[in-house]
Amino acid sequence: MEEKDSEKGKIPALPDLFTWSEDGVRIRSAKCNSCGTYFFPEYHEQHRPGCSREGVENVLLSKEGELVSYTIMHYMPPPPFKTQEDITPYTIGMVEFPEGIQICGIVVEPGPNKLKTGAKVETTTYTLYKDDDGRDVVTWAFRVLNK
Ligand SMILES: [Zn+2]
Repeated sequence: MEEKDSEKGKIPALPDLFTWSEDGVRIRSAKCNSCGTYFFPEYHEQHRPGCSREGVENVLLSKEGELVSYTIMHYMPPPPFKTQEDITPYTIGMVEFPEGIQICGIVVEPGPNKLKTGAKVETTTYTLYKDDDGRDVVTWAFRVLNK
């Protein structure tokens, strides 16, 4: 799949965090079938104390979630975060997925002054910069639905 996507000129900024297809963008997670905890990233070491950790499997989260909190950033994120140009101000949103896990990401639409908590969002990608081969280097992001 990544082979196919690079042909399309889009590559992830970091490996193993999300994936995409014609069907949409999905965040990669892992689920512990002993205690029901979901993880992000999928290889995260933290775990519920006392859990036997049996039956942890890699899963993809739902495409859509709910914006539970957000903040507007007026300064650039520190390295290793890299963008083509200054993107301030931008919005970082906390999204809760139906699986119960909350994940932060840039909210690409709508602009900072039009957001409301409780909004339904879908996972998308956001182009950070173009690499030397002209490919879009992307991260996951969120877009409000039905704004
Ligand atoms: Zn567990």
